[in-house]
Amino acid sequence: MAVRKKSAKVLRCPTCGGLVLIGSEDFPFCSDRCRKIDLGKWAMGVYKISSPVVDPELLEDLGGAGTSRGKDSDDY
Ligand SMILES: [Zn+2]
Repeated sequence: MAVRKKSAKVLRCPTCGGLVLIGSEDFPFCSDRCRKIDLGKWAMGVYKISSPVVDPELLEDLGGAGTSRGKDSDDY
């Protein structure tokens, strides 16, 4: 109904899309729960990012270490 919408006083919660009052305790989230959900998403994102980065290194490390160790093991 209200055509004139001043979005200066409210923002959308990045987690649930609900309205958030600027200056609220949990800003920019609408509630502590949404803040924690967002934090959880970040933690998962970091975990996902670190996995593919580790994989190639791990494979290289395993290949190099496995080869040299294999030779050493054979010699001994
Ligand atoms: Zn929310």
